[in-house]
Amino acid sequence: MSSRIENQFTVQFWGVRGSIPSPGLHTVRYGGNTPCVEMQVGGKRLIFDGGTGLHVLGQSLLRQMPIEAHIFFTHSHWDHVQGFPFFSPGFVRGNDFHIYGAIAPDGSTVEQRLNDQMLHPNFPVPLQIMQANLDFYNVKAGKPIKINDIIVETAPLNHPGEAVGYRVNWRDGAAVYITDTEHFPDRLDENVMWLARNADILIYDSTYTDEEYHSPKSPKIGWGHSTWQEAVKIAKAANVKTLVIFHHDPAHDDEFLDRVGQEAAVQFPGAIMARETMQLQVPISMPLSEPIPVSEFSA
Ligand SMILES: [Zn+2]
Ligand SMILES: [Zn+2]
Repeated sequence: MSSRIENQFTVQFWGVRGSIPSPGLHTVRYGGNTPCVEMQVGGKRLIFDGGTGLHVLGQSLLRQMPIEAHIFFTHSHWDHVQGFPFFSPGFVRGNDFHIYGAIAPDGSTVEQRLNDQMLHPNFPVPLQIMQANLDFYNVKAGKPIKINDIIVETAPLNHPGEAVGYRVNWRDGAAVYITDTEHFPDRLDENVMWLARNADILIYDSTYTDEEYHSPKSPKIGWGHSTWQEAVKIAKAANVKTLVIFHHDPAHDDEFLDRVGQEAAVQFPGAIMARETMQLQVPISMPLSEPIPVSEFSA
C-alpha cells in the first residue's frame, strides 16, 4: 500500500469536549478543547467544527502554509465556533478556506453567525480583517456536497437550533461525524442510521451515560445530546467498524472516561474514546487503475 498522502484517508482529533473548554489536571489525558476533527482525504483537508480545538490545529498548520481546507460546521453553538476567531491561518493572505454550514432556523447563514461572534464588544477584530480567501456555502441538510472524488453526505440532527451530520465517502471508505444530537425514546434515528450505515468510523455525540440521561434528580432529556449506550446501539445496528465516543461532558474527568471506555468496549469491541491528538486511518483499497509499486513485485 502506498503511503502517499493522495492515497490516505485519516481522521485526527483536535478537540473532543462538549459545551465548554475544560482544561485542568483531571482532563489532561482526554483533553479539554471543544470540537474540532480534521480529515485528510485523498490529499484534501476537511475540518469539522471550529471549537477551541481549531485554534490548536491552526497553530500546527502555520508550518505548512499555504493551506487550502474545507471547514464544515454542524451548527454554531459556542463550543463549535469559538476557535474560529483564533484560527491563525485565517488571517494569512494566500490561504484558502471553503466554509460550509446550514441556514439556522432564524434565517442566518454560517457567514453571518461567524461574523456576529467577532463583533465588538465580543471580539476586537472583525471577520473582514481575515486575509485568507474565505468562501461560504449554505448546506442544505439532506443534499450531498462533492469535492473532486469525495462525496460528503449530510442529514439534519435532533438538536435545539438544529445541527447537521456529515458522512465523508471516498473510494471504499467512509467516516461519519454526528454531533450534537439527541436520540429518540422509541426508535433509532433514521437520519443517524442512514449516515452511519456500514461506516468505517462513526464519531458520535456521547455526552452522557444512560444513567445521567435518565437521572430522576436531574434528567438530561431534551438537552440535545445522546449517550454512549445509544452510540453502541447505533454502531451495532448500522454495522459500523469503529465507534468513537465523542463530545465528552465537561464534568467527566479522565478516570470517569476510562471507565466509560472499558464498559463500551465490552458491549462493542470496536468502541474507542475520542482523545485529543488521536489519529485514525480509514482503510482504503487501491483503485484498479493504480499501478502496483515495483517494490511489491518479488521473486
Ligand atoms: Zn456541542
Ligand atoms: Zn450544540
